Amino acid sequence: MNGWQPVIGLEVHARLLTRSKLFSGASASYGAAPNTRACAVDLGLPGVLPVLNREAVRMAVRFGLAVGARIASRCIFARKNYFYPDLPKGYQISQYEEPITAGGTIGIESGGAERREVRLTRAHLEEDAGRSVHEGFGGASGIDLNRAGTPLLEIVTEPVINSAADAAQCMRTIHTLVRWLGICDGNMQEGSFRCDANVSVRRAGSGALGTRTEIKNVNSFRFVERAIGYEIDRQIDLVESGGEVVQETRLYDPDRHETRPMRDKEEADDYRYFPDPDLLPVIVDDAFVAEVRDGLPELPDARRERLVREYAVGAAEAAQLVSYREAADYFEAVVEEAGGPGTARLAANWVIGELTGALNREGLRIESAPVDAGRLGRLVRRIADGTISGRMAKTVFEEMWGSDGEPDAIIEIRGLRQVTDTAEIEQLVDAVLAAHPAQVGQYLEGAEKVLGFLVGQVMKRSRGKADPRQANRTLRDRLAERRSSPPPAV
Ligand code: ADP
Ligand code: MG
Repeated sequence: MNGWQPVIGLEVHARLLTRSKLFSGASASYGAAPNTRACAVDLGLPGVLPVLNREAVRMAVRFGLAVGARIASRCIFARKNYFYPDLPKGYQISQYEEPITAGGTIGIESGGAERREVRLTRAHLEEDAGRSVHEGFGGASGIDLNRAGTPLLEIVTEPVINSAADAAQCMRTIHTLVRWLGICDGNMQEGSFRCDANVSVRRAGSGALGTRTEIKNVNSFRFVERAIGYEIDRQIDLVESGGEVVQETRLYDPDRHETRPMRDKEEADDYRYFPDPDLLPVIVDDAFVAEVRDGLPELPDARRERLVREYAVGAAEAAQLVSYREAADYFEAVVEEAGGPGTARLAANWVIGELTGALNREGLRIESAPVDAGRLGRLVRRIADGTISGRMAKTVFEEMWGSDGEPDAIIEIRGLRQVTDTAEIEQLVDAVLAAHPAQVGQYLEGAEKVLGFLVGQVMKRSRGKADPRQANRTLRDRLAERRSSPPPAV
């Protein structure tokens, strides 16, 4: 990539979580039998009139406020005209000249701690089209119009992203935000969240933008990154070997890891946008905006900063905990149950480590974790107060995962209490020192790392029940005593 700068702009489509469609009362739910969720308005039959869904407007404004966009006090809907079998009206209702929000920024983590701002051009409301189904029709295609008319928020970034990794990160951040705001379920398999990536390259230092291609409908973060990476390399190779990038729409094929021009270009050029004569301009007044603003939750960035400030968790952990709102809520509930901010680092390790691992293994979301925040909090409390070691806690956790057992009950039944009795630990330590004179000698001559071995022996002798911190401390004390008064020579 020497001497070249990639330039990327994203168009993200988020399906809004309204109950009914953008302009009709038909259900917007996903997954019903084909063509059972499309009404006359969605099909554009003669004599019907669209009526705007107020909840969709509310959700768009919610997003706009969350990214610091300007909310238009007046916006209009336009018809975007094109022919496609899944679009029975012959046009899609979208916003063109006066979108509902303009500007705003998305702050992304760009490798390590560095943060970057990606400026947004706009976010506008539009209806989705139906879907062509190519399987099960013996070579023909079926059309399912359930999706026709479902509300989308299209979020458009400026061409200011300069790497495939940052583009994927930007998509992730928007994904987190729309779910956080409760305006989109983010389900990428079902197409509720998808992204078009516009890619061009230019000579480093050049101010002008190169010709772009648009990669359509990528529905995974990993594929977005790989598709853009491929496209950047392709364009650089092309230009360096004397060719020219043609502005076109391309599709990414993950199996072959390449992008290819889309076959049909009939929808490429002129959509002949014009204001939809069936819809009045939308007036968004200050009171409505104020009401939506009042209803905004603490946003991911603010939450992350607060987790670092209030709980002293590391920046990376905090970023992970706010990757979705339920995880951040879960974490804070664990800390509260475990005994407050003093237990937060331990709680963070458990939520990010053991809990997330178990959830991933079983493909579960944190909301449906078999171990709720209360029980995990009570487990963390027992680690924090020294009743059990981290190792023992893993055993308890496993048992909690498969039962309703309370941590205290499991600790009791399994006899997992940690030995913290001073006299008992001293006895163990003395026995270990007596059994390993060679290692003691090495330690006293300066081989500090032998201490680890000796702690291990104490743990072994206690069958894992000694409090390792206490064993460590007692060993050090005992060895320090020997150092200051060497045993008499034999
Ligand atoms: P359209 O509606 O035709 O797709 P826009 O001009 O509104 O087009 O741009 C859509 C997206 O393309 C935006 O995200 C924008 O940032 C991006 N974009 C525009 N020009 C370029 C370019 N030269 N290189 C990369 N991205 C670009
Ligand atoms: Mg586009």
